[in-house]
Amino acid sequence: MIKVVVAGAAGRMGQESCRAILRADGMELVGAVDKNSSGEELEKVIAMDGVELTIQSDLDTTLKETKPDVVVDFTNPNVVFNNAQIALQNKVRPVIGTTGLTGEQIAQLKELAQKQQLGGLIVPNFAIGALLMIKFASIAVKYFPHVEIIELHHDQKMDAPSGTALKTAEVLAEIRGNMRQGLPTEFEKIPGSRGGDFEGMRVHSVRLPGFVAHQEVIFGGTGQTLTIRHDSISRESFMPGLLMGIHKVMEIDHLVYGLENLIFE
Ligand code: NAD
Repeated sequence: MIKVVVAGAAGRMGQESCRAILRADGMELVGAVDKNSSGEELEKVIAMDGVELTIQSDLDTTLKETKPDVVVDFTNPNVVFNNAQIALQNKVRPVIGTTGLTGEQIAQLKELAQKQQLGGLIVPNFAIGALLMIKFASIAVKYFPHVEIIELHHDQKMDAPSGTALKTAEVLAEIRGNMRQGLPTEFEKIPGSRGGDFEGMRVHSVRLPGFVAHQEVIFGGTGQTLTIRHDSISRESFMPGLLMGIHKVMEIDHLVYGLENLIFE
């Protein structure tokens, strides 16, 4: 049995994760932590009968009391780095779904995991379809180096661009290199209209109610365009990848950024 604690358990992703872990074979949910709902009964929060856990407020204390194998983090960009450090210091493997970690923070966490000889996972997107989108895009960019990314999310999202868009841009830039796109003399009549610039690649973030998590990678070539699009239409879409990640993190002794590095050849 893999013992799991969920941090951010009362949030949108945290609730979905608790339900998925409780239903999964070979896993046991031993703790739920959430700053804003501590003291509440988890079964009420996730609308699932027979769950005997009370939501705790402090991750460090919960990890010391429950001694889990894995902590799943779906909190927010301001606390995720601290939570990951707490997990590793307690010899608990972090599986981090929260986005917003900087490159420097990821490097520091990799070092800490190495020191502790512990597995860890940082996964900007657990949807297998989204991982395939990035993989297909990495093939397309060899033939179509002119590319822009449009990501669309619900309007409660804190960070922009999304972790998935950033990851896509990083993967594509690694293959095609830095490249100036568009007209060299173009100018913006409204600042930001051309989106963020990642090594010459434009990244656009849409925030509207009604969306969950969506992304288009648009390639332009002579007389043709190619669009690769992925849509997460409900948060359940992230659960098969999350459960896979929890199993995989038990088999490694270092921190990996991106589930694709563990599930694709
Ligand atoms: P949310 O705001 O609904 O939930 C976050 C929860 O974390 C809240 O309940 C909040 O009270 C709690 N929290 C805040 N600080 C805390 C702390 N110090 N300790 C414990 N709990 C704390 O957000 P959400 O929509 O569930 O998204 C959470 C994160 O997951 C975001 O960064 C989002 O971008 C990311 N996300 C990742 C994926 C993926 O596949 N990796 C998919 C969707 C969302």
